[in-house]
Amino acid sequence: MTSEELIGVAKSHLIQNYKQQPVVLSRGKGVELWDVGGRRFLDMTSGIAVCALGHAHPGLTAAIAEQAGKLLHASNLYFIEAQIVLADLLAKKSFAERVFFCNSGGEANEAAFKLARRFGNTQNPEKNEIISFFNGFHGRTLFTVSVGGQEKYTKGFEPLPGNITHLPYNDLETLEAHISDKTCAVVVEPVQGEGGILPATQEFLEGARRLCDKHNALLIFDEVQTGMGRSGRLFAYMGYGVTPDVLTSAKGLGGGFPIGAMLTTKKYAEVLPFGTHGSTYGGNPLGCAVAEAVIDIVNDPAVLAGVNQRAERLRRGLDEIGKRYGILEPARGIGLLIGVPLVPAWKGRAKEIVNAGLRHGVWTLVAGPDVLRVAPSLIISEADMAEGLKRLDAAVAELAAMPKAANG
Ligand code: PLP
Repeated sequence: MTSEELIGVAKSHLIQNYKQQPVVLSRGKGVELWDVGGRRFLDMTSGIAVCALGHAHPGLTAAIAEQAGKLLHASNLYFIEAQIVLADLLAKKSFAERVFFCNSGGEANEAAFKLARRFGNTQNPEKNEIISFFNGFHGRTLFTVSVGGQEKYTKGFEPLPGNITHLPYNDLETLEAHISDKTCAVVVEPVQGEGGILPATQEFLEGARRLCDKHNALLIFDEVQTGMGRSGRLFAYMGYGVTPDVLTSAKGLGGGFPIGAMLTTKKYAEVLPFGTHGSTYGGNPLGCAVAEAVIDIVNDPAVLAGVNQRAERLRRGLDEIGKRYGILEPARGIGLLIGVPLVPAWKGRAKEIVNAGLRHGVWTLVAGPDVLRVAPSLIISEADMAEGLKRLDAAVAELAAMPKAANG
């Protein structure tokens, strides 16, 4: 079928809960992608910060083929070799002593929030408040949209889970004034991803750690987007030197294969004994084998150092485009999670840059209406970065020259 025919079928048979670009993908290699008609694109999004090693990485392809030939699924009624190896690896490379595996970021956070509630309930029946932050994003289950700080994702789904308080991000004073012994957890993204690529301040994370200790509340870091090398460290908490009690990971963890994980310590893992939580597919052998391969490749000092070098190069290029056309402010973010805010006169128009980029064969993302997001593979080549920037430059030039109404 042609692209047009396939899109016609998609519109007939898919629930229209996404606004998809009119591109039907067929294959990828590194940061290159091709649609069914053979048109080539450069992917500066890695599938929303997922494909940490680009598309069709030979190391991941080999791990998938090998594991698929051995065992795809067995259930959590048995011990699974690949799952044990991955848990051991994560424990060795992070603060974690215990891991729960699932299939996505939302599920990892759902597990973390359930753990937080059970932890609170074991202390005091009134200790069940979860504090999170405006513009935060933690997934699309009912509990995770409720903890997330964006009303647009909860509207129409009421009644919502209760006793969740949203506070301003990076505002330690307000957190200090509000947190109490009835708080069971504070949930933070070290860099707000969907909310605009806003890094937490050092002071905010250190203060949150201190306040959680003072009030015996769990500090939960959602590292679904910041984890797995994207920050230039395996996890962003390592760069801040602030260790959470619970950390959630997904996206880059499977490099494109769906897997999520909740990491915690022995002490807090004990509040989730037999029968309290679970998942049929969580920790399945295939996902675990892929994640092991991703960690082995990403958690290499040269690869992690390369993330910061590439980030510098891209930020420099983006800043040059910003200056040339007067549409973009200086880039911000951490490692290869880069946000480029639009200047005040262009607020609300980030999507137009994404659309213009697509016309020029380069994919970018928005992070809210006012911020362009760039999050390519952690091993993108110099040549691909140069080509991506050149195409984006042409897209921004076209947009800057266009009357507003012409670029819907
Ligand atoms: N947490 C953060 C910080 C995210 O950025 C996302 C997805 O964008 C999620 C959680 C949800 O992950 P998933 O879509 O895999 O459920």
